[in-house]
Amino acid sequence: MTHSLLLLPGDGIGPEVTAQVERVVAALDAGISITKHDFGGASIDAHGVPLTEAALDAALKADAVLMGAVGGPQWAAQPYGNRPEAGLLKLRKEMNVFANLRPAVCFPALADASSLKRELVEGLDILFVRELVGGVYFGEPRGIETLPSGERRGVNTQVYTTSEIRRVAEVAFELALKRTGKVCSTEKSNVMESGLLWREEVQKLRDEHYPQITLTHMLADNCAMQLVKNPKQFCVIVTDNLFGDLLSDEAAQLTGSLGMLPSAAIGARSTDGKLRGLYEPIHGSAPDIAGQNLANPSAAILSLAMALRYSFDQHDLADRVENAVSQTLSDGIRTTDIWMQGCTKVGTTDMGKAIITRL
Ligand code: NAD
Repeated sequence: MTHSLLLLPGDGIGPEVTAQVERVVAALDAGISITKHDFGGASIDAHGVPLTEAALDAALKADAVLMGAVGGPQWAAQPYGNRPEAGLLKLRKEMNVFANLRPAVCFPALADASSLKRELVEGLDILFVRELVGGVYFGEPRGIETLPSGERRGVNTQVYTTSEIRRVAEVAFELALKRTGKVCSTEKSNVMESGLLWREEVQKLRDEHYPQITLTHMLADNCAMQLVKNPKQFCVIVTDNLFGDLLSDEAAQLTGSLGMLPSAAIGARSTDGKLRGLYEPIHGSAPDIAGQNLANPSAAILSLAMALRYSFDQHDLADRVENAVSQTLSDGIRTTDIWMQGCTKVGTTDMGKAIITRL
C-alpha cells in the first residue's frame, strides 16, 4: 500500500456516497489503503462526541481524509460545542487545513441544469481558494451576552493576521500558475479594516514573489454580482472564510447541482513532503433523501479525484476519475437531482457502477 485514506462517512447521505468512493478506490487498484471512523452525528450516537480522539488521531496520521457529510435535525438540540458541525470545525482546525479549494466547474452535459443561460456557464471553470481556519467563524471575542439594560448582544470578531492572509494567497498564486495565472482577491476593504489588510497583504505578496500573476481586487458584494453576470471572467478567486463560504455556494448553483461539486482543504506541505488534505463534497447530509438510494455520489467521487491530485500526486488517476464522471453524464446516466428528459434515471449505487464502468 502506498497511500492511506481515512474515510469519515458521517451522517445522512454521507455513508451512501462514501460507499461509492470505496468502490472506486477498489476499482482503481492503486495501492490505497482505507480505514474508517464514525464522525458527526453518528459519532455522537455511538461515542457521545462528534469527533473522538481515535478518529482525530487517525486523521492526523492519514495521507488524506475523505468525509461524506455531517449533521441533521436529530442533533439540533445538542449544545453548539457538541454538534456534528463542531466536530468538523475541530477537525479542520487540528489538521490546520487553512486553504479550502472549491472548484466550480460546469460539465458540458449539465450546462442546461444551471439557473443561468447556457452561454454564460458553458465551459465555466473557477477555482475558489477560501481561507478556512480563521476570520469571523473563529475570532474572539464571541458569544451572546445580556447587557445591563436587559437587552441581549451577539458578538463575533472578524480578525486576520499577515501570515494567515499570505499563506492562503500563496496557495492561490501557486494554483493559478498552473492555470491562466489570473487571480481575483475579494474582501470589503471599503468598510472593514481586516479587508484593507487583506488587500494590501495579497498585493504585497504578489509584488514580492509572483510578478507573473495577474492580480485584481474586487469588493465581495460586486463579486457576488459579477458571478451571476459574467462568471467566466474569473479563474482563481481568493477570499476569506465568510465571503468564501457565501460566494462559493453561489458559484455552486451556477454549475447546476450541489451533488456535483467536490472540495479540498489543504495546509502546508509537511516535512516528509506530503500535502495532507481533508476532502469532502460541498453538499450536506441531505436528510430529505437520506437512506433512499437517491443521492448523487459524483461530488464525493470527484473529491477522491482531488485527493488523488493534491495529496497522492497521482494526476493521471485523478484525470481518469474526472473523465469517467464526465463521460457518465454525457452518456445520459443521471441521478434524480441532475436528471433531464431523455436521460436514464439511476440511483446512488447504479451511478457509482456507471462511473466505475467508464474508468
Ligand atoms: P444539503 O446540502 O444537505 O441539502 C440541500 C438540498 O440539496 C436538499 O434538497 C438535498 O436533497 C439536495 N442534495 C444535497 N446533496 C445532494 C446529492 N449528493 N444528491 C442529490 N441531492 C442532493 O443542505 P441542507 O439541507 O441545508 O443541510 C442538511 C444538513 O447538512 C444540516 O444539518 C447541515 O448543517 C448539514 N451540512 C453539512 C455540511 C458538511 O458536512 N460539510 C455542509 C452543508 C450542510
